[in-house]
Amino acid sequence: MSLISLQNLSFSYRNSGGESLPILKNINLEVQPGELVAIQGPSGSGKSTLLYIIGCLLKTYTGEVRVGGNNISTLSDEQLAVLRNRHIGFVFQQFHLLPKATVLDNVLLPSYYPTEAPMHRDSRAQAEDLLKNLGLGDRMSHFPNQLSGGQQQRVSIARALLNETQIILADEPTGSLDTQNSKQIVQLLKAAHAEGRTVIIITHDPEIAQECDKIVHFRDGEIKEITEKCKPNPVSLSLEEKFKDRKIEPVKNSWALLNRYLSVGKVLAPLALKNIQQNKSRSLLTMLGIVIGVAAVLSMLTVGSYTKKKILDSYADLGVNTLVFYGDENWRLKATDQVSVLFQNFDWDRDVAPLKNIFPEIERLSPMINSYGDSVSFAGQRIDSDPRIMGISEEGLLITNRSLILGSGINAFHVKNRSPVCVIGYGIYERFFTKMSPLNQMITIEGQNSTYSCRVIGVAESQTSNKEYNKPNFHVYLPYTYFKGVTDPWYARMRTVLIKIKPGQDAEKSGKKIKALFELKYGKSGRFTVGSDSVLIAQMNRFLSLFTVLLGAIALVSLAVGGIGITNMMLVSVSERFKEIGIRKAFGATNFSIRVQYLIESIFLCGFAGLIGLLLGFALYQGAIYGATKFISSLKYEWLVDLPALILSVISILAVGILSGLTPAYRAQKLQVIEALRSE
Ligand code: ADP
Ligand code: MG
Repeated sequence: MSLISLQNLSFSYRNSGGESLPILKNINLEVQPGELVAIQGPSGSGKSTLLYIIGCLLKTYTGEVRVGGNNISTLSDEQLAVLRNRHIGFVFQQFHLLPKATVLDNVLLPSYYPTEAPMHRDSRAQAEDLLKNLGLGDRMSHFPNQLSGGQQQRVSIARALLNETQIILADEPTGSLDTQNSKQIVQLLKAAHAEGRTVIIITHDPEIAQECDKIVHFRDGEIKEITEKCKPNPVSLSLEEKFKDRKIEPVKNSWALLNRYLSVGKVLAPLALKNIQQNKSRSLLTMLGIVIGVAAVLSMLTVGSYTKKKILDSYADLGVNTLVFYGDENWRLKATDQVSVLFQNFDWDRDVAPLKNIFPEIERLSPMINSYGDSVSFAGQRIDSDPRIMGISEEGLLITNRSLILGSGINAFHVKNRSPVCVIGYGIYERFFTKMSPLNQMITIEGQNSTYSCRVIGVAESQTSNKEYNKPNFHVYLPYTYFKGVTDPWYARMRTVLIKIKPGQDAEKSGKKIKALFELKYGKSGRFTVGSDSVLIAQMNRFLSLFTVLLGAIALVSLAVGGIGITNMMLVSVSERFKEIGIRKAFGATNFSIRVQYLIESIFLCGFAGLIGLLLGFALYQGAIYGATKFISSLKYEWLVDLPALILSVISILAVGILSGLTPAYRAQKLQVIEALRSE
């Protein structure tokens, strides 16, 4: 059986006008295992094209091509890659070494591929042996541009022989060399042939051709004549046998695909790293975009949600779902205004208590009667001005969300009987009762025109507020019925009512309805307003969320710009590395591994940049918080990790990494090897 068999092979290029340009016309050729074949013909007659077809690099021919018995048009891209990698070694006129890889790495190139079905053997030792045998033992860590042409061609022969390939395809291997070097190269190819390999050499040199078993004379895409000089030494080898156990398993599901991405990625990761390193300054500049973008995303989102939390906290003294309902006498009531009932202040039984029946969404009600500037004293100690005395119902503390650390609260009995009892704030407790229990102690309250006392029945837990005029820790709560009787009549008027709406109900809406009811009842004689933390909070929340989203969006845009920078750089590098991709494919890289190489590169770039960006973002927002504490005294410096912001940042790093690598990756994998190799 022939090792290579061409039957009625034709090939044409399609030019830009769509016309087909016949390059190879109806070629029939058999090459036996172990043969040394020369192809001779004028330039432009299609010799290289023929060689590329035999080397499985061009698929768009008509007719039949068999290599080792396999009809190559029936093989998948992966199988072709394996075939090239394991059985075919190319030697080119222009050497086609990777300029940025050392001599040793260049020789090792075929050992990396196909990354999907790695060969488990020590290629390194073998590559070193090969190089020593070729007289390049002391040049292994040199780069190709530090070698002479003859040396470079020897490196490329070592590369072609590395995987113990059976077929060597040499396209004018001596075309760029002087006579001395040419002779050496021909000797090497003949030696490879003597070891049992099948060698096809394209050459213009009749002397070289004379040394071959068979000379194929080629002209205008046709074989004019075949001169058989001697029968080849019969070599028994079965490509098919070797071919069987070295194939790439097809991926069956997405899990297997992911696995393949990972395993190929692992092999190619060092390569991608090297590439980034070799273009250090360019990589760094591109990374800068990502660094800034990620830092912006993380810090903006974190600062946004931090600000939101702080602002909301400072307004949420009363807790959510609580309305503060104010009613004031209208001092500017005109004589012409028709009013059926005149409003002066709320009356519990007439105005407030019935609200629960009218509006079922109301959960709790309490009046809030305040006096300011009072002082509180106990056993010779005295607190001036800070205390605020409040008259409330038994539901008052529940509405304001104040829990007790000691004793019990005001109950319905106290309210009904005007009991002189009180619940004190934590601040008062701390000042007066360091040595004894406050419970059942009598404290004295001194207002502007009145002095009275009450028995402490409970202590409210500490609560901070950043309002100067309202210090919850210096509150004293009394049953409003008792408070009304003992305080100055001016303060005793019930003008404020606390209303707690049931959870899940719209407090804003309820507030409006209650207001409408009172306006109907009292006309213009009263002025009613709903002050509500929850209404304010809801509005504020909406605004602040929008603000954060906006900040985040701006930051994401800057990240996207960074991503575009990476795409751009990698696209440039695809065209710069045209030849590299071609060389890799010629030695067995599948489309898949080319794609992965580019993807990893961009993921690495983004990963590094992202990491730096996260650190920078962290520093930025901690700095911002530190700065804020210098200006706003109530803010305390704290270490902040906003998980959602962090997660979003990491996700966007990955997304940008993959998205920006995708286009270059696909462009690279689509590249035609032959065009890539011809580009120079
Ligand atoms: P040889 O190796 O014998 O010098 P080639 O096989 O390299 O010849 O080229 C054969 C012919 O194919 C040449 O005439 C060349 O101009 C033509 N050719 C090569 N590449 C293309 C292409 N991409 N489009 C159209 N024609 C091409
Ligand atoms: Mg050529």
